[in-house]
Amino acid sequence: HAKNDGGKKVRAFEPFMHEDFLMHRQIESGLQEALANDEFTLLFQPIVDLETGKTRSCEALLRWKHPELGDVSPAVFIPVAESAGLIGDITEWVLRKACEAAAGWPEDVNVSVNISPALLKQTNLPVTIIETLVNTGMVARRLELEITESVLLDKSPHTNSLLRQLQKMGLRLCLDDFGTGFSSLTYLRSWEFDTIKIDKSFIRNIANSPTDQKIIGAVVQLAKSLQVATVAEGVETEEQLDRVRDAGCSRVQGYYYARPMSAEQASHRLASEAVPDDGTVQIVNLR
Ligand code: C2E
Ligand code: MG
Ligand code: MG
Ligand code: MG
Repeated sequence: HAKNDGGKKVRAFEPFMHEDFLMHRQIESGLQEALANDEFTLLFQPIVDLETGKTRSCEALLRWKHPELGDVSPAVFIPVAESAGLIGDITEWVLRKACEAAAGWPEDVNVSVNISPALLKQTNLPVTIIETLVNTGMVARRLELEITESVLLDKSPHTNSLLRQLQKMGLRLCLDDFGTGFSSLTYLRSWEFDTIKIDKSFIRNIANSPTDQKIIGAVVQLAKSLQVATVAEGVETEEQLDRVRDAGCSRVQGYYYARPMSAEQASHRLASEAVPDDGTVQIVNLR
């Protein structure tokens, strides 16, 4: 506890820390009920292929409405779910909802699901995924797993074999938040990612920052030489779009194209994209 001499200063922080702690506890206990009480929603945000102008995949993004706290950001509750051991059940739900939605989309549109690095330490992830694919009628090659590199990835033989197993199953792997981690290049060397997602912090100032432009250009060239696709995340303006296009980026995700939307809105959008230029409506979604 605070010493007498410095006590005043330390105490000033106590109410804040106490509130923080209570908030954490409230989120943790809330999360325990959230699945049962149907408090989660899954939104989908298009990732657009710059060559075709069409949606290549939609990223599933989790939303949670706490009965008292209201909307809580996944950036806040996902880490709590991880430390409370709840991320496995939540991810299972996300995978199911994401695959259920994607099973009704045109067959050339994938779905991207964020996988917490904590889950790569467990053995049952491939089993959960196989069960989900079977139960929803989704094919493995249309499921992309996004793994953030902002957490130091465990390079144990176990993580290695798990990632390889997932690839052998036909799933695609995406290295999320590229550039924010500790050893981006090491990850690229260790595992065969199909895609890297350049973190939105590099995109934010791209229109005014020659340095950021050069970094993105170099990352895209590196990725190309490794036959890895690049997604620019957080593109909000036409200027940013022009710059990432100039850099040779293959795909774009951001508010410029679309904000995260409901499953229903996503399937409407994808169906309308599937309408060819001559105006004839293609019958998609036949199952
Ligand atoms: P992420 O995987 O990097 O997802 C991209 C984030 O950028 C999303 O925030 C998305 O809404 C936001 N975004 C997209 N376009 C723009 C843009 O143009 N401008 C700005 N400013 N932001 C944009 P969101 O939905 O709040 O999610 C935050 C993070 O929470 C995600 O980052 C991901 O790491 C995590 N997360 C979300 N859903 C899940 C999930 O189902 N499972 C796990 N494990 N993590 C999740
Ligand atoms: Mg992601
Ligand atoms: Mg992330
Ligand atoms: Mg990201």
